[in-house]
Amino acid sequence: LTIGAPTEVYPNERRVALTPQNTALLLKKGFSKVLVERGAGLQAQFLDEHYSAAGGTLVSREDVFNSSDILLKVRPPLVGKEVERIKQQSTVISFLYPNQNKDIVEALAKREVNAFAMDMIPRISRAQGFDALSSMANIAGYKAVLEASNHFGRYMTGQIPPCKVLVIGAGVAGLSAISTAKRMGAIVRGFDTRPAALEQVKSLGGEPLEVSINEDGSGAGGYAKEMSKEFIEAEMALFMEQCKDVDIVITTALIPGKPAPKLITKEMVAAMKQGSVIVDLAAEAGGNCAVTRPGNLHVENGVTVIGYTDLPSRLPTQSSTLYSNNITKFLLSMERDGKFVIDLNDEVVRGAIVVHKGVILPAAPRPLPP
Ligand code: NAD
Repeated sequence: LTIGAPTEVYPNERRVALTPQNTALLLKKGFSKVLVERGAGLQAQFLDEHYSAAGGTLVSREDVFNSSDILLKVRPPLVGKEVERIKQQSTVISFLYPNQNKDIVEALAKREVNAFAMDMIPRISRAQGFDALSSMANIAGYKAVLEASNHFGRYMTGQIPPCKVLVIGAGVAGLSAISTAKRMGAIVRGFDTRPAALEQVKSLGGEPLEVSINEDGSGAGGYAKEMSKEFIEAEMALFMEQCKDVDIVITTALIPGKPAPKLITKEMVAAMKQGSVIVDLAAEAGGNCAVTRPGNLHVENGVTVIGYTDLPSRLPTQSSTLYSNNITKFLLSMERDGKFVIDLNDEVVRGAIVVHKGVILPAAPRPLPP
């Protein structure tokens, strides 16, 4: 079977789905050819010669699309530009977000392909090695702190008064932000609606913040559920007080399938000190902060508000490396005695597959909370 990795053409996307290292691994595991579009890895610092040295075959964009039995991508294939070029009856693996991209899913079905969504892989322990959502969230949390410190006019550490960072939402991205800000020497506080997340804040050396309302935010699959109006009001009162005190706020609060909860109001931003920074990692889902402009940075009342939606792509070598490891391991998990087998009885495969032989499958039931 021939594997292919094209250049990502989505605006400002610098990642590539496959690294030279994983190219060599796939060939070693018995795939007959790895086609890489010339220049595909350039923005992530993977040069064409690195791919050739790993045994990859450098070809034109047309050849990657025409000849790959399994196409590996980062971004969902674009309708009008990419989907129609994918070889019929082949397989494509990428981020897909099928609920938000119904047009893409339908177009893929018309191509009679198999399509897997990296974002739908069940987050169970067996599939941890394929968990690209976590890999990217880790990078986003790390990069959020770097972006914040770049726009903050003082040291993070070593000075009096020290920099204070508030992280709202302590999932994968939030915890990564907390440990990064801690390592840079800041005083770090964390808030989440799930008690388990607050424990993790503490274990990373952050100060967990709490409200006096006793309500557990853990929902199905360990994800957050929507909170009561009283709880949201109580946490917002807490954030108003915190905004007057902290220098940097990083927000990551998300509820699967819902718009991001609006937790930081215009008034809270106005209450922050001159020169403070907000990084809103929920920008793509509408933002946790009322004044966030998704995709952009702007200054509001002396506060820099960063709503970038491409933070992993801003660390392209790292994000490509981790993503390539995830997608390669996932692909290899479907290899049986030298053959590529789509086993719909496999919970991970069934969770991730969106289109099977041109048929759109209903979403698989999600695992119950542990
Ligand atoms: P996410 O990106 O969906 O949400 C980020 C955080 O926002 C969550 O921690 C959530 O509790 C929090 N949040 C939601 N509403 C909030 C509010 N009103 N105020 C404050 N915080 C709020 O979450 P994620 O990072 O994808 O992780 C979610 C869960 O999945 C975690 O429990 C994580 O440990 C778990 N997980 C498990 C695995 C695995 O087992 N392989 C892998 C990754 C994540």
